[in-house]
Amino acid sequence: MLALDSIKFCLRCGHAMELREESERLRPVCPRCGYVHYFAPQIAAVAIVTRDADEKFLLVQRGENPGKGLWGLPGGFVEMGETVHDALAREILEETGYAIESGDLVGVWSFFNDTRKIAGIAMVYATRVAGGELRIASDSVNAEWVTYERALEFPLAFETHREALRVWAKRET
Ligand SMILES: [Zn+2]
Repeated sequence: MLALDSIKFCLRCGHAMELREESERLRPVCPRCGYVHYFAPQIAAVAIVTRDADEKFLLVQRGENPGKGLWGLPGGFVEMGETVHDALAREILEETGYAIESGDLVGVWSFFNDTRKIAGIAMVYATRVAGGELRIASDSVNAEWVTYERALEFPLAFETHREALRVWAKRET
């Protein structure tokens, strides 16, 4: 996820790019070969991970920016060649050590950084632990099983996660 002027050279032929109006927006365009760079939001697969033992779900403390030190739902960006569910399973295993079973889609939310130059789409799924043991790794530094009420007391990194939890909690009761 890069700023508009960050594509300095053509990805196809290496010529210097120009910013030009193209399909009704300012976009990096190559004056030599005509390559147009289209920016698109990245898809984030995000999980509300529950377990059989109780009504709690997993919050993780972020070890990397954005939101380093703050808490959020585990998840990450969908890589090329993966389905959303592939990405969900991979990210949760990396961050928490759990194999998960995907359940219902809780919702889809657009998100932006402060300057609106970076954009993503979060797809939030209800999931359940299917195996494995809690093992913090990847870009998480801590994890806790929490109730919805308890989660709201944590400094959450993303408004999107708060909103997803609100929708999920309402549906569960
Ligand atoms: Zn070019």
